[in-house]
Amino acid sequence: MDAAEFRRRGREMVDYVADYLESIEQRPVYPDVEPGYLRSLIPTEAPLEPESYEEVMKDVERVIMPGITHWHSPRFFAYFPAASSYPAMLADMLCGALGCIGFSWAASPACTELETVMLDWLGKMLQLPEGFLAGTDGHGGGVIQGTASEATLMSLLAARCKALRHFESINPKKSEAEILSQLVAYTSEHAHCSVERAALIGGVKMKKVPTDQTFAVRGEMLQAMVEKDKEAGLIPFYFCATLGTTSSCAFDHIAELGPICNKENMWMHIDAAYAGSAFICPEFRPLLNGIEFADSFNFNPHKWMLVNFDCSAMWVKKRTDIIGAFKVEPLYLKHENQESGLVTDYRHWQIPLGRRFRSLKMWFVFRMYGLKGLQAHVRKQVALAKEFESLVRADKRFEICAEVIMGLVCFRLKGSNELNQKLLKKLTKSREIHLVPCQLSGRFVLRFAVCARTTESRHIQHAWRHITQLTFELLQEPGH
Ligand SMILES: *Cc1c(COP(=O)(O)O)cnc(C)c1O
Repeated sequence: MDAAEFRRRGREMVDYVADYLESIEQRPVYPDVEPGYLRSLIPTEAPLEPESYEEVMKDVERVIMPGITHWHSPRFFAYFPAASSYPAMLADMLCGALGCIGFSWAASPACTELETVMLDWLGKMLQLPEGFLAGTDGHGGGVIQGTASEATLMSLLAARCKALRHFESINPKKSEAEILSQLVAYTSEHAHCSVERAALIGGVKMKKVPTDQTFAVRGEMLQAMVEKDKEAGLIPFYFCATLGTTSSCAFDHIAELGPICNKENMWMHIDAAYAGSAFICPEFRPLLNGIEFADSFNFNPHKWMLVNFDCSAMWVKKRTDIIGAFKVEPLYLKHENQESGLVTDYRHWQIPLGRRFRSLKMWFVFRMYGLKGLQAHVRKQVALAKEFESLVRADKRFEICAEVIMGLVCFRLKGSNELNQKLLKKLTKSREIHLVPCQLSGRFVLRFAVCARTTESRHIQHAWRHITQLTFELLQEPGH
């Protein structure tokens, strides 16, 4: 493909993408394929001779589309939203064209510098304490990680390194292995599974803190566990709080938990993967009060802030904690500016070496939506969730299972778990709307998350009509 053909095909692709997104509602939201469906649709080997672009594109509809779950359909209410907007897609195209690998400042200065400034812009939108921003006198700064899981892992590894160094220095007789075996981390029983995984990868114990009746961790619950573990000779070193849990969007009480972590010399990381975007709205910002006690904070603009995957924003209060934890300096990565102290080499802030120019997506989206446009998006989706909540509340066969604070509604049919499992099965099979379940206090609960950017009231009304129709059919079946 030469530049002339690229121009033509590029325009066609833009049309294909716009057509796809404009007509996405007409496609079943959930695919109707069996595992292994794809292998039989394409050859068993890569082609020896080049094929034409037309042949490739024809196969997109034949091979790919039947196996797609349409995350950007306004009939998609599963998981949490995956952000998508046209400015972000265009910026991503430019990122692909520049194709730079921004592991150090010298590897592409704009890639590093725009990222630092975008994380400051975003930090200001969230009213983060100044100490987290890079362009201040503080010691903090922001970085784009690929996912919230990586941000959690980075924070846990940095905390582990810090704790090891501290206890080795005050107790030189103890071996590293001995200290490691005593370290203990904590998180909510409702934390995302990636937190537990971070502890498995990091090779440290992690304990689940029980939650209150709103599925949130309170200070006294953590304090009690820490006391007990210290008495047993363990070393509490890390707590991961969740703001907006995945199952029910519960908020741990960080204003109570933060002072405990500070007093006990434990690293506090905050995972606000989904809910973090809402803190740009003054009415939701109080939920972030207590952030001043945190060592690191993370949320995913790729969930709710219209920046396409992948873009997970992470801030640390002391950048040396994270940079110093895993620093290696081979000669081929050295550059003459690094000693000046003025440059950031983001390779020290993350697990991989290579990194894409992801801040371009943020820059395009922030400028083309403005803070007001982004706030409007959050508010609209919260209002749609409230609309769905009131439909559920008006139907006596159903119950709401957790307070609706943002764009997620947890609900169920009054009755057995089995009944609700059957309802979800029918919903999934219909492929008309898509939902996933969660478990709250041993109960099987349906999660309804407002996801697509284009979701409107009519989609909420349609989803509810569909749910009640299938409920009616289910309750007609023998045995109910
Ligand atoms: C979605 C989610 C995650 C995982 O996000 P990734 O970016 O895919 O790693 C982590 N924590 C919470 C609370 C989430 O909702």
